[in-house]
Amino acid sequence: MRYEGSIFRPPSEAYSLLVQVTVGCTHNKCTFCSMYKDKKFHLRDPKEVLEDLQWARAHYRRVERIFLCDGDALALKNDKLMPILEHIRDNFPECERVTAYARASDVLRKSNEELRQLRETGLTMVYIGAESGSDEVLKAINKGETRAQLIEGVRKAEDCGIKASVTFISGLAGKAGWKDHAVQTGTMISEMEPSYVGLLTLLVDPSVPIAEEIRQGRLQLLSPEEVVAETLLMLENTSVSRPCVFRSNHASNYLSLAGTLPQDRERLIAILREAMEDSGMLKDERFRAL
Ligand code: SF4
Repeated sequence: MRYEGSIFRPPSEAYSLLVQVTVGCTHNKCTFCSMYKDKKFHLRDPKEVLEDLQWARAHYRRVERIFLCDGDALALKNDKLMPILEHIRDNFPECERVTAYARASDVLRKSNEELRQLRETGLTMVYIGAESGSDEVLKAINKGETRAQLIEGVRKAEDCGIKASVTFISGLAGKAGWKDHAVQTGTMISEMEPSYVGLLTLLVDPSVPIAEEIRQGRLQLLSPEEVVAETLLMLENTSVSRPCVFRSNHASNYLSLAGTLPQDRERLIAILREAMEDSGMLKDERFRAL
């Protein structure tokens, strides 16, 4: 397999075949993100993508999962993405799921018919970084998308049969904005009703713009206890009517939580309340990682 630059994938794609179909991120301006700063967005030559898939077919007996890299592979128009999905469908009959990172705006740019076509040809899930439900926070981190767009994009993907796994970041609004971030994120999840929610905790690479805000004191990081309080407030404001798998078990999190909303909501809230009284339940700073 050939790759250009550093490759990133969600933790749940650890055992997937990683196939680079685009390089970099179309936006590449979020102030907390260091992932694709060494790359300028471009499409990979479709011929090379198919050659890589052929190479993988020749070398791996069983490929159950494929993740299409990089930052927002869904930026590819259907006339480019469909031949890749068709090749996977025809040559990897054992493949159970094909997934990709996407921006909400990528989803919104496609018609319902195009999204259904992608689903029917094998695209099962997209990972969308929402980061926060607060428009104020989204603006501050230069997300380039609004709360309304993010909700509409996730709902549209789900309505067309493509599951959405949506990521949020605890601590992103610092001490000044954590309550707004928590409440707006909880209500956003309620409105989106994605199949999956992943909650990370802000951990800053010194090279990204948000690190400068922290150095200048314009953003004050939350303590581990404040992160727990923020997650608690977020869950108290989350109310979904269809199953949503909720996980905050990333290496960056102080407290590992996993459950399915709405039935596990009270159990998760009880764990958070317990952790507020017992800081021994929280991960030591030294063991956190991106
Ligand atoms: S859209 Fe995603 S990959 Fe692109 S800069 Fe923002 S967080 Fe990073």
